Amino acid sequence: MSATRTDRCAECGGALPTSGDCWTRLHELLEIETRVLPTLDPQAGMRAHFFAVATYQLQHPSRLTREALDGLHAAVDAMTGASPPPIAHLRRDTGRFAAGSRKVTRSAPPTDRSHIDRRWPVSWSVTAHDVTEEAETEYPDAVGRWAVATLADLRVAMAATSR
Ligand SMILES: [Zn+2]
Repeated sequence: MSATRTDRCAECGGALPTSGDCWTRLHELLEIETRVLPTLDPQAGMRAHFFAVATYQLQHPSRLTREALDGLHAAVDAMTGASPPPIAHLRRDTGRFAAGSRKVTRSAPPTDRSHIDRRWPVSWSVTAHDVTEEAETEYPDAVGRWAVATLADLRVAMAATSR
């Protein structure tokens, strides 16, 4: 049974929650975190939180300025790399994104992507919806895989010729 287009988020292509607003998915992830993160060591918990919030935003760029999006992309790239920086450095930035700071967010409809590279994908190998479907014990790994899959999708998309 494939969902109709209107059942899908315009930015990530994931199935929409019952609220009809994909933003709710981020709150679903944060609810999972309130149950899962206390069971992790603090560094692993902070990393999981960073991957969840940052990856969600990479897949929903209409909410961010171009500069914030580029900064976030670089941060996720660094955190998934061979020698990730201390998470505390990144957490402040991520907190600003999550809090909707005016410096990094813009109030535009999800369909307004005029400021974004036109090659930026609107469908992704793994979406927030996929992560919420995983077992909660898998959460820390699931958000890490989500981040890596998102970067891979971006690499493929950005390798395409810009026209
Ligand atoms: Zn979405």
